Amino acid sequence: MNPRPSVKPKPHPSQPAPHPPTLIIRPFAATFVNKTPPQLIADAVEEAAAALDRHPERRRDLAEQAVMRGALRQYPAFYLGHGPDDEAPCATPPTPPKQSPEERLLNSVRGITGPLEMLNPISPRLGLGRGTGTLPASFGIRLAAELGHTPTGERLIDDVLAEGMPDPETSGVIPEMREDIEAALALTPDWFEIAPPDMQGPFNIAHMVLGTEVFVLPLLEPDKFRDFMTLATDFYLALAANLRRWIGPRYPTFPACTCRIAECSLNMVSAELYREHVLPHDRRIAEAFGQVAIHPCSGPHVFRATLENLPVVYTEAGYIAKAYAGSIRVEEAVAEIGERPIILGIGQELPEGNEEEFFRRDLDLARANPRLLYGHTGMHWRKRDAEKIRRLHLRLDEYWARHVWA
Ligand SMILES: [Zn+2]
Repeated sequence: MNPRPSVKPKPHPSQPAPHPPTLIIRPFAATFVNKTPPQLIADAVEEAAAALDRHPERRRDLAEQAVMRGALRQYPAFYLGHGPDDEAPCATPPTPPKQSPEERLLNSVRGITGPLEMLNPISPRLGLGRGTGTLPASFGIRLAAELGHTPTGERLIDDVLAEGMPDPETSGVIPEMREDIEAALALTPDWFEIAPPDMQGPFNIAHMVLGTEVFVLPLLEPDKFRDFMTLATDFYLALAANLRRWIGPRYPTFPACTCRIAECSLNMVSAELYREHVLPHDRRIAEAFGQVAIHPCSGPHVFRATLENLPVVYTEAGYIAKAYAGSIRVEEAVAEIGERPIILGIGQELPEGNEEEFFRRDLDLARANPRLLYGHTGMHWRKRDAEKIRRLHLRLDEYWARHVWA
């Protein structure tokens, strides 16, 4: 048993001392009785605004602005997390109650300050949609609300093709997203960004809608597969255009929010298959936006095939132990990007016992290439290690102030 250390973390010499989370996250019942939803939202906005003011060192939005400019930033604003807790629930959790747009907005605004508890980054940005299944829902895929809206089941390609493109205004969860946009525009200030949902990308959408057939369809039914990919891409682009119009000036500028393709499922196919059957569709998205942000989901061949063939403005790398197709090393990724102004999101699993040293090496890289963002996880850590993780977080902040920023 590790006794809990009694030593309090030292405040960073060049940064404001972090406030205890209890000052930021007030209990629901005690504070908000007898108020209307818009009043509760106004209170939550005020609290978020105060926290953002107090914590420039935790501002993810400021870090993003700096990496877009290619400027070294004063505060690293990195994410540091722990692995899942051991006690995984056995029974299916109950379906959460249906919420109104105002209730969803209230949760979203309150959620902004949550990461501060672990000294993790915050930004004035509201999210939309239902996670990875947001677009597949329009193709008739059910999202299991009781499992965090996980897409469930799959459909036959013939049936989906016969239906044609889903309506980019009225299908699936789009009407709900539109209500959320309207509520956010009406009840939150202009400096709150409204981010589009997780749009995924043509091949991930194909995988979620058609199931594991996507791994053989390009070879067995290339014409039908191409037709589905065209449909998925048309729909992606039509919805993206609608969202941009509905959100207006509060649409974010950070590319990983606005023109992202997640390529998780490409980790299970070859680079050749990608180039022949998927790339033409990705290219249409990249051309529509003039650039593209890629989530390669760790595969080195995915990292390379996208970097070589698309106008990539953001991509990701880092060591992941249990990756299907291996993972791209950060030093290799940095070398392959070279002088190009590409933002690299580094996400790594930290080695047990050597976490600090390992993370410091990634921070050091920013001296030569400031376009780096960090999100690291100690898979061996659990919730009970929170205090230890916070202290490491502060030491790494201090390292940045002394060795990278100084
Ligand atoms: Zn992924």
